[in-house]
Amino acid sequence: MIDLRSDTVTRPCSAMRATMAEAEVGDDVWGDDPTVSRLEDKAAELLGKEAGLYVPSGTQSNLSAILAHCQRGDEYIVGDNAHTYKYEAGGAAVLGSVQPQPVRMLASGELDLDHISQVIKPDDNHFARSRLLCIENTHDGKVLPLDFHHRARKMADDHSLGLHLDGARLWNAAVALAVTPAEVAAVFDTVSVCLSKGLGAPVGSVLVGSQDLVDDARRWRKMLGGGMRQAGIIAAAGIYALDNNIGRMADDHDRAARLADGLQAIDGVTVTGRSTNMVFVDLGPNAETMAEHAAKSDILIALSGTTTRLVTHLDVADDDVNQVLDLAARTLPTAGASS
Ligand SMILES: *Cc1c(COP(=O)(O)O)cnc(C)c1O
Repeated sequence: MIDLRSDTVTRPCSAMRATMAEAEVGDDVWGDDPTVSRLEDKAAELLGKEAGLYVPSGTQSNLSAILAHCQRGDEYIVGDNAHTYKYEAGGAAVLGSVQPQPVRMLASGELDLDHISQVIKPDDNHFARSRLLCIENTHDGKVLPLDFHHRARKMADDHSLGLHLDGARLWNAAVALAVTPAEVAAVFDTVSVCLSKGLGAPVGSVLVGSQDLVDDARRWRKMLGGGMRQAGIIAAAGIYALDNNIGRMADDHDRAARLADGLQAIDGVTVTGRSTNMVFVDLGPNAETMAEHAAKSDILIALSGTTTRLVTHLDVADDDVNQVLDLAARTLPTAGASS
């Protein structure tokens, strides 16, 4: 099976499973699980922060962070296409009484800083209190330059806002920029990273930041039902992922580039975007046909109309890319399709 729908579909390899089987565990809600603590410390250190918190999902990680930064009646400023605005079921508003203030997200994934300065509210009892700015890197696979991080930090400092990074795929950004994960995380007060995407762990995210913010987030995690007992079993997979699966993402990026180049060379196919491990493609009128043929060849793609997002990850090998390109070349060309 070649599954290109997302990098969330990766499955733990046998070495990862072995470390899980052997993990030392305890009750983490009591702070007794040495493997969870080791993962939290390791992630914090890698990202240059004081403390870490292991959470079941990126959604809970971002929500716990927003709730740690903001009180009831505060607002967080966020891109109108950001995961923390659009794809987390409105959690901050529903569960935290924290109002999202969306701002324009540019095609690059950067936020329009002029728009931000217009929506930041003065201290006046008509308004929610502007409290937090949220950035996402990577966004749709696109790497935001560190220069933008610095400009966002300045904006946050000028207006006494906290600064949070949804770094679900921060690892891909670090590899693509050839900098350390800590350099990507540097200017942020809190950073959420996923272990369960390109890193290949079966479950889990880590929130890192100052001890104070992480302590607050820990209370929210408990309230949200994310306090887990012998979680060292799954945290061990996270440690394995951090030790083994960051650098290899360069291969995923190379494969995405090769996939994009190969598809672009096929008549009637338009590659509309490619960055890190994602390729966005318009497959044209034969899109349905290709998806059907793909499914028969055990290749999974998710169509949205005639377009698709193809994602490379550690379960997609070089030869898999060849197979996908072969299939596309056989099924997609519009020229002669009807003859
Ligand atoms: C996947 C993802 C998350 C978190 O998702 P979960 O499925 O809750 O782990 C957050 N932000 C971005 C940008 C993501 O891609």
